[in-house]
Amino acid sequence: MKRSVERHPDVFGDELPDVQQIKQKLGGLRVYTRKCNQNFLDELDARIDEIERTYEKCGNAAQVQSIQGYLTTLCCWCYNDYLEDRFEGAEAKWPTDLKLDIADRFPDLVSADTASLKPSIGAGWLVLLGQFLQATEHVVRKAFTEPVVVQITDVKMSREGSIHFDFSKFDHCLDQLLRRIDLDSKRTCAKCGHKGDIVRKKDKANVLCTHC
Ligand SMILES: [Zn+2]
Ligand SMILES: [Zn+2]
Repeated sequence: MKRSVERHPDVFGDELPDVQQIKQKLGGLRVYTRKCNQNFLDELDARIDEIERTYEKCGNAAQVQSIQGYLTTLCCWCYNDYLEDRFEGAEAKWPTDLKLDIADRFPDLVSADTASLKPSIGAGWLVLLGQFLQATEHVVRKAFTEPVVVQITDVKMSREGSIHFDFSKFDHCLDQLLRRIDLDSKRTCAKCGHKGDIVRKKDKANVLCTHC
């Protein structure tokens, strides 16, 4: 930026702005300056944008994303290295838990006679599913004017590559939560949980990242 200002004072003005602070926040790069030339700010924004799409350690393309609840900028390769290091040989500790049993963990969301309900989805979607189930449980428990009854009977991946729920009892107050998890699942690698894209094959779609 300094070089740009020196070379093009006609565009950026001839005064270098005071940079107050540079830090990482919410997985992104923040640069705080005192009031300065608008062209300078636009140029700075463009450069920050570029930096934020690059993983700080390896230089691969990456996007800010929520991984296990905190925001970070990891490329899919480094993210998978991280998972392996962290959870090596301990699949049960994988985020959130490969052995998630909805009947056991969220008894209010299944019928009383459901002894066990294990979702048949990839491990990469477990965080999304956990968040959805928690939010749904909250809706059910906090309903005060009329009771909300939700009974999930199955969770799986649809042929279109998004998460799919079967319900024996459903309430439309869940519409928005369902829409959100549907969209999120289409953008999350079903295997590892990194940002992914829908990959269509002949008869079935999957959501995968470049690594997987
Ligand atoms: Zn990387
Ligand atoms: Zn992946």
